Amino acid sequence: NLEVGIIGLPNVGKSTLFNAITKAGAEAANYPFCTIEPNVGVVDVPDARLEKLTEMYKPKRTMPAAMRFVDIAGLVQGAAKGEGLGNKFLAHIRQVDAVAQVVRCFTDDNITHVAGSIDPIRDIEIINTELCLADLETVEKRIDRVQKMIKGGDKKALTELEILKLVRQTLSDAQPARRVVNDDDTAEVLRELFLLTLKPTLFVANVSEQEAAGAGSNPYVAKVREYAAREGAEVIVVSAKVESEIAELPDDEAREFLTDLGLEESGLDKLIRASFTLLGLMTFFTAGEPEVRAWTIVRGTKAPQAAGKIHSDIERGFIRAEIVSYDDLMTNGTYAAAKEKGLVRLEGKEYIMQDGDVTYFRFNV
Ligand code: GDP
Repeated sequence: NLEVGIIGLPNVGKSTLFNAITKAGAEAANYPFCTIEPNVGVVDVPDARLEKLTEMYKPKRTMPAAMRFVDIAGLVQGAAKGEGLGNKFLAHIRQVDAVAQVVRCFTDDNITHVAGSIDPIRDIEIINTELCLADLETVEKRIDRVQKMIKGGDKKALTELEILKLVRQTLSDAQPARRVVNDDDTAEVLRELFLLTLKPTLFVANVSEQEAAGAGSNPYVAKVREYAAREGAEVIVVSAKVESEIAELPDDEAREFLTDLGLEESGLDKLIRASFTLLGLMTFFTAGEPEVRAWTIVRGTKAPQAAGKIHSDIERGFIRAEIVSYDDLMTNGTYAAAKEKGLVRLEGKEYIMQDGDVTYFRFNV
């Protein structure tokens, strides 16, 4: 159950966006066994393929993949030193799998900005600095430990120390740790430190209602894009206000509203899909009369572990998977037709699942 944390300075539109997420939320009925805390929103991952499969199979029910967002309020300058909610806030970030940083790109004289003016890059840097400071503390502690290990005669620790020193330098320059992780050794050393600046991150540029469809001329958005490009990060442009209005409408009206605004899809859907990709996730399907369902797995997952998402018994007793790609299935109209053409493959334990695989697992009970 992967989670995206929404962070940002006060008054940038986090709660507005989060409200849109909870209002648009996945049907609670689909998640009967989850208690959901007030700052967690569960949304369906939009996927047009699921609709097509539903048309084909006419199942009793359709279950989309879900994704969790957590509203992490309370980050202010000085958080790493314990200002505001400080450390508690940072501990929340440590638990999420990816971060969506909301930056204010809308002007509104009635809404004060904590730092006095609209300047998204400064805002991003304030937050980055706090996260870097928190990570710096973590890395310093580890360096102390490793130095003791070296004194105790642990030669292997020398390599670790070199890597940690490099990371310390990066963080001291207020650069996120993800900038230096480009080899396995570094990734290995940092894995257990759960650094905040190692989390995959995307930026959410919050623009005014008027700019929801055409933020092209918004100079703040341009700056955020430029900044993000240097980090290799993605930028999603949304108007949190518009999103919260859309989320209250029934589906057909929402679609009409989007068309009126000149939008193809809601900013929220864009955000959900971008987060999905950012987390390195992909989808496989199970399809039948009772249910058509999308399942979420990390890229590179093998067939038995994918089966384990459905039930641990299926993973344990895994024999093989019968798989047809979504495209082959659609081109041929029915599963039987695809099978006739030899497009339904039998895959074994080592098969690496592909996005869009429509799968039937065979297993021993
Ligand atoms: P948070 O502190 O980051 O959670 O910010 P909020 O979501 O509470 O938003 C702060 C204020 O900005 C609220 O009064 C919102 O209504 C307003 N706001 C948020 N997004 C927009 C927007 O796109 N346009 C305008 N004009 N106001 C917005």
